[in-house]
Amino acid sequence: MTSLDDISVTQLKGVGSALAEKLAKLGIHSIQDLLFHLPYRYEDRTRVVPMGSLRIGDIAVVEGEVMKADLVMGRRRSLQVTLRDDSGFLVMRFFHFNAAQKNQLTEGARVRCFGEVRPGRAGYEFYHPEYQVSPPPMAAAGEATLTPVYPLTEGIQQPRVRGLCQQALGYLARFPIKDWLPPSLLSDYQLPGITDAVKLVHSPPADAAVHLLMEGRHPAQQRLVMEELLAHQLSLLQVREQIQARAALPLLPTGDLPEQFLEQLPFSLTGAQKQVMKEIRQDLSQPVPMLRLVQGDVGSGKTVVAALAALQAIGSGAQVALMAPTEILAEQHFRNFQGWLAPLGIELAWLSGKVKGKARQEALAAVASGQAQVAIGTHALFQDEVQFHRLALVIVDEQHRFGVHQRLALREKGVGGQLAPHQLIMTATPIPRTLAMSAYADLDTSVIDELPPGRKPIETVVLPDSRRDDIVERVRTACRQGRQAYWVCTLIEESEALQCQAAEVTAQELAERLPDLKIGLVHGRLKAVDKASVMERFKSGELDLLVATTVIEVGVDVPNASLIIIENPERLGLAQLHQLRGRVGRGEQASFCVLMYHPPLSNNGKARLQALRDSQDGFFIAEKDLEIRGPGEVLGTRQTGLMQFRLADFERDKGWIEPVKEMAPALMQHPAVVSALIRRWLGENIRYGEV
Ligand code: ADP
Ligand code: MG
Repeated sequence: MTSLDDISVTQLKGVGSALAEKLAKLGIHSIQDLLFHLPYRYEDRTRVVPMGSLRIGDIAVVEGEVMKADLVMGRRRSLQVTLRDDSGFLVMRFFHFNAAQKNQLTEGARVRCFGEVRPGRAGYEFYHPEYQVSPPPMAAAGEATLTPVYPLTEGIQQPRVRGLCQQALGYLARFPIKDWLPPSLLSDYQLPGITDAVKLVHSPPADAAVHLLMEGRHPAQQRLVMEELLAHQLSLLQVREQIQARAALPLLPTGDLPEQFLEQLPFSLTGAQKQVMKEIRQDLSQPVPMLRLVQGDVGSGKTVVAALAALQAIGSGAQVALMAPTEILAEQHFRNFQGWLAPLGIELAWLSGKVKGKARQEALAAVASGQAQVAIGTHALFQDEVQFHRLALVIVDEQHRFGVHQRLALREKGVGGQLAPHQLIMTATPIPRTLAMSAYADLDTSVIDELPPGRKPIETVVLPDSRRDDIVERVRTACRQGRQAYWVCTLIEESEALQCQAAEVTAQELAERLPDLKIGLVHGRLKAVDKASVMERFKSGELDLLVATTVIEVGVDVPNASLIIIENPERLGLAQLHQLRGRVGRGEQASFCVLMYHPPLSNNGKARLQALRDSQDGFFIAEKDLEIRGPGEVLGTRQTGLMQFRLADFERDKGWIEPVKEMAPALMQHPAVVSALIRRWLGENIRYGEV
């Protein structure tokens, strides 16, 4: 039987090839795609508002008579149409308009229009409102319905999409949408069937509960939200299945490398580290690839755990790759691992984009022959030219920039291209439970929920930059007492060049004001060797103060540093600030963090910095970050599109996450249902479906 998925949108009236192309940009090809192009909000146009009662920011329908229409030549030419009703005036302003519009909007014409009130040079204005000349009578109260608002792309306007969706609804009588959810499930949650739900959200009847619809809590919307969350969950479980369909080399704990390593450490593992190791050891000994995420707050000691996992692999005669997102972090791992593992007779290779020429050839050869048992580097580790001899474990530090498709691609890198490597992913940004449940459904998770003993709390103060002089003095005093300090310059992240420049200027200024201190500078544009040497000098205590960009955000570990100044913290996310602050508080002395903001702070900005001042609990801070900024930002996946929903809203709909997680495994038994739901909701964005 034909389904709506097989009927092209070009069947609709008014859809020619040009429009079809634009619709394709929205992922819309079939009638079904169109029906799942859902309104993300509604406008209440059910009543006309007197112009005299409007306030700035109101979104409203007004109706009145054109008093005058003028062509205004300001900085930009515009058509200015003044309307009047019994209560007052309103101006419609058009920067783009055609002759027909101009001829229509003449004195005396009756106009109904809809827009957002803005302050303008001629009083309150609507810019480019939707409008109707000589409008039909408004529907009587009780008959009027809400107006859906759809996502758009260039060259398609709301009324167009609305019209097309209405046409598409006409197909539902003959071709109902296939409901993949069992009726028992729907009745448990008192949710409508899929066809009814779709109909209602595109065309809410007059008696539908307006406040529920406006908030996205109507049962019809919730039915769709639930299905969308379910589809995302299924797509991740599918990734997991696809990875685990390959066999892996079981890495049995043999030999005494781990014991030797632990003996040489100046400390013993925390209970949490031991527990997580137990989970990893268990996973690695299976013939199925491990897929495990280790979360641990800054300073919780993830690196040691990574080293122990590596040793289990090496002990079984396999190779390990350790990847970090930045050169600095990768280098630091390299040096740590070198210090820990070389004494045990283990060889390491270093590979980053900046390793060139002979050094590169040597590293590649060592990795290919298996002579190097561990390869450490940046993304460069996984370029095609890097051939491993017997890769069985991949460790990824700071997974935020590491997406599902990359996890999938790793499958191919294992022994003989046949056996998939085990994957251990470490993140220092604690991920709120609800978010982890849905964004990392393909991973098992372990949490290192305990800091090594003896850590002192970091005292955080929030100060305006008018106190800069005092803060500089504070740095002087701390360094005179033998402590070390960081001074972090932040700038809008997009421009690395500007960021580096700002750091250079700051370093110079501080050098002038603090002539008795030894000051170093690191930023992303320095050569790797220079960066490494500055870091080394700071670590050895030769430098007192390190001026840096946010490149030091993750992982940098200098226990004697006990003061960190962060400029313009209002520009950064909470999780990132928490990371930065975690550079101090690693040693014996009490540590301080100064958040030096540039006033005025928004209320939101104030709340965020306060959350940071009041808490040092990464999970608490991550929850706040999620509330304030939403999942796309928290996961750093805005660009990749992961966790971008059509209808679901993380805060509002988090109640669904648990039930969805519970119902997903049973559905996985029905591959046809799984692929239909994924296609329906993720469509072309099946970034991680297809094999
Ligand atoms: P993170 O989880 O932020 O990556 P690291 O692995 O860099 O943390 O560890 C932070 C510091 O704590 C390092 O100096 C490390 O040697 C030390 N450390 C790790 N585990 C312990 C432990 N069990 N006891 C004491 N110090 C530890
Ligand atoms: Mg780390």
